[in-house]
Amino acid sequence: MAPDDQLPSYSDAPPEGHAADPESSGISRRRAVSLLGAGLGGAALAGGGGFLGYRRSLRVSSSDQAAVRRRQIVVAGGSVGGLTVAARLLRAVPDAQVTVIEPRETHHYQPGYTLVGAGIYSRSDVLWDQGELMVPGMRWVRDSVLAFEPERNRVRLEGGDTVAYDVLVVALGVINHVDAVEGLREALETPRAAHIYDLSSGEKYWGLASAFEEGTAVFTYPPGYVKCGGAPQKITWLSEDLWRREGRRDRIEVHFHTSRPTLFPEVPRVDEAVTPLVEARGVHNHYGSVLRAVSASDRLAIFEERLGDGETREVRRRYDLLHAVPHARTPAPLREGPLTRDGIGGQLEIDRETLQHPRFPNVFGVGDCAATGAAKTAATIRKQAPVVVQNLVDFLADRPPTARYDGASGCPLLTRYGRCMMFEFDYEGRLVNEWLYQSTRETRLWWEFKVHGLKRLYRHVMVNGYV
Ligand SMILES: Cc1cc2nc3c(=O)[nH]c(=O)nc-3n(C[C@H](O)[C@H](O)[C@H](O)COP(=O)(O)OP(=O)(O)OC[C@H]3O[C@@H](n4cnc5c(N)ncnc54)[C@H](O)[C@@H]3O)c2cc1C
Repeated sequence: MAPDDQLPSYSDAPPEGHAADPESSGISRRRAVSLLGAGLGGAALAGGGGFLGYRRSLRVSSSDQAAVRRRQIVVAGGSVGGLTVAARLLRAVPDAQVTVIEPRETHHYQPGYTLVGAGIYSRSDVLWDQGELMVPGMRWVRDSVLAFEPERNRVRLEGGDTVAYDVLVVALGVINHVDAVEGLREALETPRAAHIYDLSSGEKYWGLASAFEEGTAVFTYPPGYVKCGGAPQKITWLSEDLWRREGRRDRIEVHFHTSRPTLFPEVPRVDEAVTPLVEARGVHNHYGSVLRAVSASDRLAIFEERLGDGETREVRRRYDLLHAVPHARTPAPLREGPLTRDGIGGQLEIDRETLQHPRFPNVFGVGDCAATGAAKTAATIRKQAPVVVQNLVDFLADRPPTARYDGASGCPLLTRYGRCMMFEFDYEGRLVNEWLYQSTRETRLWWEFKVHGLKRLYRHVMVNGYV
């Protein structure tokens, strides 16, 4: 039986107030918990072997433990990537010397930003105290890396200190580069434009979208690497669904301009499933279309659009509401330092399977900042963290790396309120565990799992090192 068929019916309407509370979305707390359990079970299975597999994969021989214990392990960046690696290592070797360098006192659960933009989550759903995420044994340095000095096995901090290491794990993530598009910064200051790639702007977007009555709504997908390649589409489709349900859709034109040749070029099966669904809803998709400039005063979004013959043309679209996803780039110490190289957009140079730096073997990388070519998602980190920990232990035990990352990632593609396509995929764009996810179907189960389950998986499983 498909997951969707097992569910009772309940309201899947967009929120009035705060639908993150299971009671307010019309299902009982018990039901929500059982859905959560089903989802967590599924995810654990999909993770490969569940809890027993996890226990086995944590085993580190006593001689390896001794080799780890003697060394200083430094993790640069204490968000989900850095914390998941650090916590998992400490589960395997509880008295390892692990230092996490992270300036923020408040952790941002970024996968929840889309739900903030859709009015499902509020600010308090996505902000957590950083200190509460640090597992016992982690030493937290509340500072920022100013410069990496891999020849000297140390990092320099903005506060003036230096931190020496035997092994470094780089987990700096990527940041918004709003100024890459001329005029975008000014446009984002007007009451016509916002985006979900920043919490405050995501809150603003929900205010704009929920009050939007008529006109042209323009959504963009930037060139280069993007955090969660599904998020620009998700917010487009959720907004479209909101306006349809509230009876305004016939007064609103929806345009989605993507720099890519199709909606999901990296996963052809999903692309084939989702494109007709969206087209039937009257969303105008524009492919190979890159936002180059915005003129806030006359509300013009200016695109460079690729034509079939390799030529380009300029397209000017007047907007009443603009959701413009900023370009992404890595933080300066990585982008401008010795750990990157030409041609990878300032990302960490890395072997995409071992997750080890090719020139500095005592440097590993995890998450968004690493040039693996894999999707930049927390789901990716769930698969990468065990590989990093294993290969880090191998390195300290004087062995070649034994673990391999296969490019696996996942995406909860919110296609409308109350519906989600959940899928995992590998480097080749093949669906993984399709039987479990029913990957190309829009289901209510995976919507519930995204809203109620994934946050808990992230908070209590991943960053606690149970991956
Ligand atoms: C709108 C949106 C929707 C998303 N949806 C999903 C989803 O549905 N599913 C999913 O799996 N993923 C999703 N993601 C992606 C997910 O949030 C990221 O992949 C994940 O946060 C990456 O983790 P990270 O640790 O690599 O980087 P980040 O979480 O970006 O963390 C980087 C850390 O490094 C720190 N740092 C930066 N510079 C320095 C410095 N110089 N020194 C020290 N520390 C520094 C930062 O303070 C930060 O804590 C979404 C992201 C966004 C923006």
